[in-house]
Amino acid sequence: MKLKMLGTGGAINDGLPYNSFIVDSTLLVETPPDIMNSLYREGIERRDISTIYISHFHADHCFGLPFLLLKNFFDGFTETINIKGPRGINKWVQDICALAFGPENRMQGWVSKNVICEEIIEGMAIRVGKVYTLTPLRMFHSQETYGFNLNAGGKRLLYIADSYWDMSLLKYMDDADAVLIDLNGEKSDTVKVHISEDDLVKHALPYIKNREMIFYGTHLKASKVSSNKKIRYMKPGDEIMI
Ligand SMILES: [Zn+2]
Ligand SMILES: [Zn+2]
Repeated sequence: MKLKMLGTGGAINDGLPYNSFIVDSTLLVETPPDIMNSLYREGIERRDISTIYISHFHADHCFGLPFLLLKNFFDGFTETINIKGPRGINKWVQDICALAFGPENRMQGWVSKNVICEEIIEGMAIRVGKVYTLTPLRMFHSQETYGFNLNAGGKRLLYIADSYWDMSLLKYMDDADAVLIDLNGEKSDTVKVHISEDDLVKHALPYIKNREMIFYGTHLKASKVSSNKKIRYMKPGDEIMI
């Protein structure tokens, strides 16, 4: 599978495109406020996006959804869009679109007809498209948040969405082929809301048996580079082949 970064910024950042990525042009993960900018900048064909995954309802992960659906509506798309998200996803999609453009907007009917929402449940594997199996994993965050394991063709991508470090995350990492991970934490943080490079160095790297595995950092405050060979901070447009 090919993963392409559309943005790497966390909720508070220095002007980075907000965190989002797409798998094989069909599975879009997160729809941050600037998702349209990122999709166009990276040359993504919207018609190919059949599934959207939303990890949680914080604005930097989902407030761009009404703009994407509005554009698809105005372009006359009739393809079904499947949206996977936490408990209440169906009402949330309707509500945010109504809030964004008014409950009487013609787009609301289009959303009801063309968007199919499915609630994700911790540990419950779901099929995504023809080739993927996605298993939601509960993160450690202020709001109900789910990362995932994504399996396809014998390979596995682990996505650690917004989370602070917890030792129970380690069990997902060992035989993953790639880990895309919230590395928004900094050494200087007084309250640990997000995982930091230091957390990985201390709690994860010594225990990973797969020596080839790289941790790809996203959800950043600013663009950065790691001196650790096992940690690579992503930039918009970067691709990972798994
Ligand atoms: Zn976030
Ligand atoms: Zn969050």
